[in-house]
Amino acid sequence: MEQKLQRKHDRVIVAGGGPVGSVASYLLARAGVPVTMIERATDVVLDYRASTFHPPTLDLLEDSGITAALVEMGLVCPTVQIRDREIGKVAEFDVTRLKNETRHPYRLQCEQFKLVGFLYKALAQIPGIDLRFGHEVIDIRETEDEVVVGAEHDGSRIEVRGDIVIGSDGGRSTARKLIDVAFPGLTYPEHFLVAGTRFDFRAHMPDIASVNYTADPVRWFMLLQIPDMWRILVPVAPEVSPDDAVSDESLQSSLKTIYPRPDDYEIVVRAIYRVHQRVADTYRRGRVFLAGDAAHLNNPLGGMGLNGGLHDVISLTDRLIAWWTGKADAAILEGYEPQRRPEAINAIHAITTRNKKLLEERDPAVRARNLDEIRRTAADPERSYQYLLDATMISSLRRSAMIR
Ligand SMILES: Cc1cc2nc3c(=O)[nH]c(=O)nc-3n(C[C@H](O)[C@H](O)[C@H](O)COP(=O)(O)OP(=O)(O)OC[C@H]3O[C@@H](n4cnc5c(N)ncnc54)[C@H](O)[C@@H]3O)c2cc1C
Repeated sequence: MEQKLQRKHDRVIVAGGGPVGSVASYLLARAGVPVTMIERATDVVLDYRASTFHPPTLDLLEDSGITAALVEMGLVCPTVQIRDREIGKVAEFDVTRLKNETRHPYRLQCEQFKLVGFLYKALAQIPGIDLRFGHEVIDIRETEDEVVVGAEHDGSRIEVRGDIVIGSDGGRSTARKLIDVAFPGLTYPEHFLVAGTRFDFRAHMPDIASVNYTADPVRWFMLLQIPDMWRILVPVAPEVSPDDAVSDESLQSSLKTIYPRPDDYEIVVRAIYRVHQRVADTYRRGRVFLAGDAAHLNNPLGGMGLNGGLHDVISLTDRLIAWWTGKADAAILEGYEPQRRPEAINAIHAITTRNKKLLEERDPAVRARNLDEIRRTAADPERSYQYLLDATMISSLRRSAMIR
């Protein structure tokens, strides 16, 4: 079928301009592929989800200039710790050991809205790109020679015609629903609470790293340094309402169990999320491709969702650009799903599930065994190296032949 796929309008429509859709639009537009990006929001949304960028993502985005912008806006974090609330440090992994595998041997912490802000400005400077903010995709219709996307804007309906649609409109993807693709998996019963404070945890807990995963049978937590604050991520029991969970009282109590102090913390960011592990049954229906959260969702323990979504659009846009520029025929698009979908399962889901189990284990014997295992992994040079390759997604990208 791909051999017959024709381009009638010479245009890719990107449905959803979050980080994944914006990067897709930028990579296509700078290669000369005409793009219409349709985004429901009218401007950058302050989204307190992703902040971690892994080394190979930075390598793969280097040529585009995105990496330089991220590094300038972000914080370089060379080590990652696994801790236990009672014991303290259990294991430390030094990402700089990967210096022969990557040009960016560290985790970079930069909030996803800063990436989106950078891209919206950069996209606006590319002549000919069609940016439709404040437009909500409501309809996708495909015929033999085109795809028509209907969107609502200020109460009116508009249509955009193109050859390919990238559905990058997030976990509740309208694009995915419109092309009737199932999204099986699970939703965790607990919510995940994010809070940000300018309190300097390292001044009071000198042995922590910038990225810390702390196990606890009741309230595990993640403590993460980002450029201008520290961020915590904690689970909220299913019976607690989201409103109660983000109340001052609840946030102060979460922060004070991490580092007790008589004064209240200054809280500058608060947000609550529902978290899922799901993978779309297929990443493609005809001319419509799914990428990012529209294609796969996972828990945030490991910082892999956005990275995986960026790997999706790097693969997909490379293929589209090769087709557009005549270096390959449309059959190259067939390789997208087999390259990316297995990694959502074998890398992203496998590792984030493992991480969550390690942090939340309640059985004291299993918990002690798991922590001992991670301690031994960190102490063994070969096993810790492999752990680092997996945790930074280098193994995943090698397995799928996106990097050598
Ligand atoms: C607490 C938390 C922490 C996380 N931390 C990390 C991390 O450190 N590293 C990491 O890699 N990942 C992390 N993730 C995951 C990461 O946030 C997501 O994978 C990422 O946001 C996905 O980007 P996206 O562009 O696919 O989707 P989204 O960010 O959801 O963007 C979708 C965009 O589509 C738009 N849209 C939606 N519907 C429509 C429509 N009908 N028409 C037009 N536009 C539409 C939305 O307005 C939005 O701008 C975290 C997740 C959580 C919950």
